[in-house]
Amino acid sequence: MKLRYKAIMISLLACVWVIQAQKQPNVLFIMSDDHTTQAIGAYNSMLAKLNPTPVLDKIAKEGIVMENAFCHNAICTPSRACIMTGQYSSINGIVTLSGDLPKEKQYLALEMKKAGYSTAVVGKWHLHDRPEAFDYYKVLPGQGYYFDPVFFEKGIESSVKVGRKDFGKGSVQMNGHSSDCIAESALSWLKDGRDQNKPFFLKLHFKAPHGKWEYAPRYKDYLEDVEIPEPANLWDTKNNGSIATKGYNGELEKYIGTSVGRRNVVRNYTQKHPMWEISQSVPDKEAKAQAYQAYLKSYLRCVKGVDDNLKKVVDYLKEIGEYDNTVIMYTGDQGFFLGEHDYVDKRWGYEESMRMPFIVRYPKTIKAGSSSNAIVENVDYAPTILDFAGLTTPEYMQGRSFKNILENKGKEPEDWKDAAYYHYQLHMAHHMVPAHMAIRTKEYKLILFYGTHFRNKTIPDSPPAWELYDLKNDPTEDNNVFDDPKYAQVVKELKVRLKEMRHQYKVDGEEFAYNKVINDYWDYDEEAKNKSIEVSHDMLKRIENQEYHYFKKYYEKQGKVLKK
Ligand code: CA
Repeated sequence: MKLRYKAIMISLLACVWVIQAQKQPNVLFIMSDDHTTQAIGAYNSMLAKLNPTPVLDKIAKEGIVMENAFCHNAICTPSRACIMTGQYSSINGIVTLSGDLPKEKQYLALEMKKAGYSTAVVGKWHLHDRPEAFDYYKVLPGQGYYFDPVFFEKGIESSVKVGRKDFGKGSVQMNGHSSDCIAESALSWLKDGRDQNKPFFLKLHFKAPHGKWEYAPRYKDYLEDVEIPEPANLWDTKNNGSIATKGYNGELEKYIGTSVGRRNVVRNYTQKHPMWEISQSVPDKEAKAQAYQAYLKSYLRCVKGVDDNLKKVVDYLKEIGEYDNTVIMYTGDQGFFLGEHDYVDKRWGYEESMRMPFIVRYPKTIKAGSSSNAIVENVDYAPTILDFAGLTTPEYMQGRSFKNILENKGKEPEDWKDAAYYHYQLHMAHHMVPAHMAIRTKEYKLILFYGTHFRNKTIPDSPPAWELYDLKNDPTEDNNVFDDPKYAQVVKELKVRLKEMRHQYKVDGEEFAYNKVINDYWDYDEEAKNKSIEVSHDMLKRIENQEYHYFKKYYEKQGKVLKK
């Protein structure tokens, strides 16, 4: 009798376990490289009237739009590492584009596997070490090619050579545009690759719309006859920025931050580009207007390719009856400038790049048509995904699940975070953006451009300065009010919070050389301001004296050589 009772109990428990397991939703995490909120209809931006993302907008309409999702560092590799680890860069160690994320630190995949999921990542990975923690991967090496992309694929023996480049064992090449190849590969895994007895966790990462915006030929006429609207601050940057971004009296304006027009003499989009060409004889104003149109059209054609491919995935999930059993999350790895403040690319802690799109659809628990202004960060994504899978956040993650916010029509609990922390460290590399850190609350953003490289001393320091934006009155950050006495108390309070956060995230120690500069300029008294002016003059002198290796090509164009 006792034995029979025990057997019944065991089978009951097994049933509960099976039901429990069945309750775990699939998770489809979609990330498109550099896809910014301004280019998503659901975010109601200026470009929404062009209807750039109808498929994604429908997903958003049936789910929730997060208005205040932020990345911790607006470049590919660090943001992806924050998402995979649930940790800030200072903890996971990936602060630049060259950081590796080894298998044992690919926490999100390891945890989801532990929770009983069949796991895969397809598309752009950009964390260097292969994603071995997933059951399956098919990822681009580094940035990958837009056309006829090569992939590293788990479990294959073949190897591919393209020209003289040998990709080695485990590589395969597909024909076509990367967005089509990535969606097709993801669908193949959903159809035949995954373990059908388990829920799935798929990270679907499009390479588009990352530069150089090589769209599929079928989009060449898309928006061709349309005049893309321009942001007002493409032309008039008003009071955005400071000595840190423009130099003393604007003396560094032509060297800091890649521009649309010819402002930046080293990098701007009127120069020859793989997707467009503007004659150098075209006058400056007209050249800038033309460059903006060409840039936006290429970018939006890539976005359209992503959106069309989303439809294939949505249709397949519907076909197999899993659409409503799947938590669909959509994001970019950071935002992007589409000409605002005459900037392109990302990196800057301003809204356009710090802000990430984040849209979730799961009709079983998320109310259609919701939105939220709760502040969430990319380190919170992994805990949220794990929460949907029924797991609590592991101790080693700093992020926090916001599943309850998603399911509570966007309403945040009382003890939810009041600020996001930002830290860009790749000082003056690539697009010539000075190193800086920032704190972003719902009302304000305080930035300290400390302007020194964390390692490379051959790169000149840029002038340090603080900036403050009143986001309620100035959401486009056109007016730096740091020096306005009206905001003195706000600055004081935000500095206290910023200091606390830096301590909490372990970035305030002496082991980081930049902390000396940060301390020197923390109070920003008259002496510090004067010192910053000297740094500005010195930087200009060093650039003009041909000492700056990032400017090598610029010097060469002028018939000059880099001086060591
Ligand atoms: Ca990116």
